[in-house]
Amino acid sequence: MRIERARELGLCHGVRRAVDMLREATTRHGPLETLGPVAHNNVLVHELTALGVTSVDSLDRIRGPVVAISAHGAAPSVTRELERRGLTIVDTTCPTVARAQRVAEGLANEGFTIVIFGDAGHTEVKGLLGWAGERSLAALDIAGLPLEGRAEAFQRVAVISQTTQRVAEFTSFAKDLCGKLLQGTEEFRVVNTLCCATQRRQESAAELARRVDVMLVIGGRHSANTRRLAETCSALVETYHIETADEIEEARVRGKGHVGITAGASTPDSSIELVERRLREL
Ligand code: SF4
Repeated sequence: MRIERARELGLCHGVRRAVDMLREATTRHGPLETLGPVAHNNVLVHELTALGVTSVDSLDRIRGPVVAISAHGAAPSVTRELERRGLTIVDTTCPTVARAQRVAEGLANEGFTIVIFGDAGHTEVKGLLGWAGERSLAALDIAGLPLEGRAEAFQRVAVISQTTQRVAEFTSFAKDLCGKLLQGTEEFRVVNTLCCATQRRQESAAELARRVDVMLVIGGRHSANTRRLAETCSALVETYHIETADEIEEARVRGKGHVGITAGASTPDSSIELVERRLREL
């Protein structure tokens, strides 16, 4: 059995940087809390828990004097509240997410109504909505947007994306929205806020999936970017989304001459190495 890794896989620079910052912060301050999970990956979360990093899901649950903002970022109102409480803040917002936040803020200051292509329940999108101002909206489908009877709000419209979405879907969302709104609109602007790390993982996974007999996609079940990698690969070859090496079922890889591996942007190196080792044992 030949085992081949995708050219780019696993921890992206944003999550790697956040994890390094948290490690350093625990050395300096001791145990700390993060607002929301550092990443949607149980293995990584357990590794950090062992260092004293725990996550809380709301401001009300924060107990300690040190709190970290996750790589997905937060709305400015959240940061202001943490400051008001006098907490020490470790801001691990990924620079790519921070750029999207600055874009949203700049467009809102210019008077645009901002439409975010993304999952409105995701931490990053909640944060972006905070930067994009009161009139902003977020959805994955234009059918989910309250567009009717709001002509005034849509005189100047700007579309941005959650960083981890796919380029083809963002393009089609922006096109559909433009088709729907352009007639009554003075200006329609699209700003590319997608993350290159996610795109490169998608492209590398697809390139490998075309050449192998089976693909294993390693990463958290709740990780949006891992799920999208699995969707991309499934369209090209037999694919299994697994969180850990224990989930590899021998029957699925038996007789396969060439096995491809990729991993989401929040999957730690240790998970990838354990999957490779398990495949070699099989
Ligand atoms: S996927 Fe991209 S935007 Fe998200 S944390 Fe990683 S580098 Fe940053």
